[in-house]
Amino acid sequence: MSLVFTCSADDGHPADLTLAGLLREHGLPGTFYFPIRNQEGGPVLSGAGMRQVAAQFEIGSHTLDHQFLTRVGAAQAGAQIVRGKRELEDRLGRRVAGFCYPGGRYRPLHIGQVRAAGFDYARTTLNLCLDAGANRYEMATTCQFYPHARAVYLRNYLRGGAWPQRAGMLLRALGEPDWERRLYAMFAAAERRGGVFHLWLHTADVEAQSAWPALAGFLAHVAARVPPSRRLSNGALALRSFGALKR
Ligand SMILES: [Zn+2]
Repeated sequence: MSLVFTCSADDGHPADLTLAGLLREHGLPGTFYFPIRNQEGGPVLSGAGMRQVAAQFEIGSHTLDHQFLTRVGAAQAGAQIVRGKRELEDRLGRRVAGFCYPGGRYRPLHIGQVRAAGFDYARTTLNLCLDAGANRYEMATTCQFYPHARAVYLRNYLRGGAWPQRAGMLLRALGEPDWERRLYAMFAAAERRGGVFHLWLHTADVEAQSAWPALAGFLAHVAARVPPSRRLSNGALALRSFGALKR
């Protein structure tokens, strides 16, 4: 079965430059979701740093201030979505088509706001999926590059719905206690089944876990198995899965 690989990094931490270098080295595309600021205090790339990543990779928006949309009223959520897009486009000098919900938190209202703001697609934090997601504004992932306890997978599974489609990958995740081996086991299962393997991460976590060698090893593993024609940015995957957006 043929497998498509895509990956994404959230939050615009300065270590995104390190990830950009790694992806380039392995010929893998990726999508970086940048807020303009991070109200939780994490550092965010300068405009120059953002443009450096944007020279080779797709950039999406992650609100203005990394605001969890469900924690504020509708007007404030809308402003975060619209201003995050506008300010990012001003910095990059080009259109930004993709959006990612901070913390993976959103309600139907926010999907409408993202669409109205002019985004073509949006990524969630729903994991354990081997497809692009239910629709273009609720794109799914397969796993986060993070040493999650197995209970985290179980919680995400129960909260996320789409249980029959996700049960196979849940069993893979629960079946392997070591998180690095779990990643390879999930990828091997995806290779057997075919579909989409969407890896996402925060580079701040990779730094904190000293996990750059592990990430480099996994990306080399992916690059050796997925041919260039099946390595897609999130935007290219949205286009391939859901078609061009008619406005
Ligand atoms: Zn985030």
